Amino acid sequence: MSYNIMSSKAEDFINDEEILETLEYAEAHKNDKALIESILNKAAECNGLNHRDAAVLLCCDIPEMNKKIEDLAKEIKLKFYGNRIVLFAPLYLSNYCINGCTYCPYHGTNKHIPRKKLTQDEIRREVIALQDMGHKRLAIESGEDPKNNPLEYILESINTIYSIKHKNGAIRRVNVNIAATTVEEYTKLKNAGIGTYILFQETYNKKRYEQLHPTGPKSNYAYHTEAMDRAMDGGIDDVGCGVLYGLGTYKYEFVGQLMHAEHLEAAKGCGPHTISVPRLRAADGIDPNAFPDGIDDETFAKIVACIRIAVPYTGMIVSTRESQKSRERVLALGVSQISGGSRTSVGGYCEEERPEDTTQFDVSDRRTLDEVLKWLMEMNYVPSFCTACYRAGRTGDRFMSLVKSGQIANCCHPNALMTLKEYLEDYASPETKKVGDALIQKELLTIPNPLVRSRCEQYLKEEVNGKRDFRF
Ligand code: SAM
Repeated sequence: MSYNIMSSKAEDFINDEEILETLEYAEAHKNDKALIESILNKAAECNGLNHRDAAVLLCCDIPEMNKKIEDLAKEIKLKFYGNRIVLFAPLYLSNYCINGCTYCPYHGTNKHIPRKKLTQDEIRREVIALQDMGHKRLAIESGEDPKNNPLEYILESINTIYSIKHKNGAIRRVNVNIAATTVEEYTKLKNAGIGTYILFQETYNKKRYEQLHPTGPKSNYAYHTEAMDRAMDGGIDDVGCGVLYGLGTYKYEFVGQLMHAEHLEAAKGCGPHTISVPRLRAADGIDPNAFPDGIDDETFAKIVACIRIAVPYTGMIVSTRESQKSRERVLALGVSQISGGSRTSVGGYCEEERPEDTTQFDVSDRRTLDEVLKWLMEMNYVPSFCTACYRAGRTGDRFMSLVKSGQIANCCHPNALMTLKEYLEDYASPETKKVGDALIQKELLTIPNPLVRSRCEQYLKEEVNGKRDFRF
């Protein structure tokens, strides 16, 4: 099998030989200052990098060049995403699972973890709790179990989530993180109005993948790896990829991740909407130290910086698996979306105390959403609950065109301010409200188009008077 970016076969577009050759090339050039300079100059044009060039940056060993890589990542982040950070929360629907993933406590052979699946009434209660925190975007999560969690259950749950209007609350975008499925089922998800379809590859290394997924439908490497192609064939424009760092060697994963993005762009006309960067965490019966390929914070930050440079138009997501300190670092380097106030257990949002019994993994950042928002704003980030693009049909390549046109400052920025204002009016603590109102006044001045600025000011006033859901 040889590398073929256009092929629909996993082992052609994620080609082991091509990854190994890329890594050999990167190793051979990791101290080649002239080459690294030239790659950085190319990257500064903001059109991204291919996996070979990006791998050289990842492997680069020269401290002075590594500083330049960080600086460029920060510059690109600012250019495309400004200081906005989009907020979301995961919602665990069910931990029934028939797979055998050796790193996940939901694996079918774990007999002592309580199994739980939310009823539609329980979902309603969870969603109201999430709305009361101020969330507008959710990522629903579920184990794979066709009997207990068939697609019909997921579709019914999405419908329930969108239907709940509690006080001023509303969930305006539901992203979905469920197991790989068929084109027909992806079309059903699309028709249910989902935002992004998220599926982590876990590891791109086929051999490692098969060791880590010994049983269940997920053990089929090709079926899993080709899922995004099927999702896009089924009509889903926005797909979200990710590697679970710690399962395989990070350099291999990094190259595989970029090859996947390149394949989707070449074969389907649009690369992934987001790339998540989860790291393996401790969980019931799972000790990350038992996995030999864990990465330290420094390496993690370097991966984020190199992804930012290689795929400037792709949003990057970091969850509460990461600590406050680690999140702070990668926010500057490229992350554009974070979760906040997350509970990673089934039914966790309705409990006063954080329940641990059905938890998927330990959460490092345990702050409330309000604390996360205040923290972001004190670092001059604008927390955003915006869902405008998806609701206006600006998905897939249409979203990418907006990003490329540079109109973000006149569109996403005011939308972020207006959704932040909703949060401040409806949910914020007095201290967070004070910090937020001052930030909005300062940020208004940075909207370049005077007409947009004055309309935004007007909408903000109307929000104080109780109106909601303005967007450009
Ligand atoms: N069941 C779906 C599937 O198989 O793709 C996805 C849902 S699962 C709830 C979401 C993700 O959690 C997985 O794709 C995996 O990357 C991640 N995960 C599993 N165990 C983890 C652990 N111990 N630490 C951190 N993340 C973990």
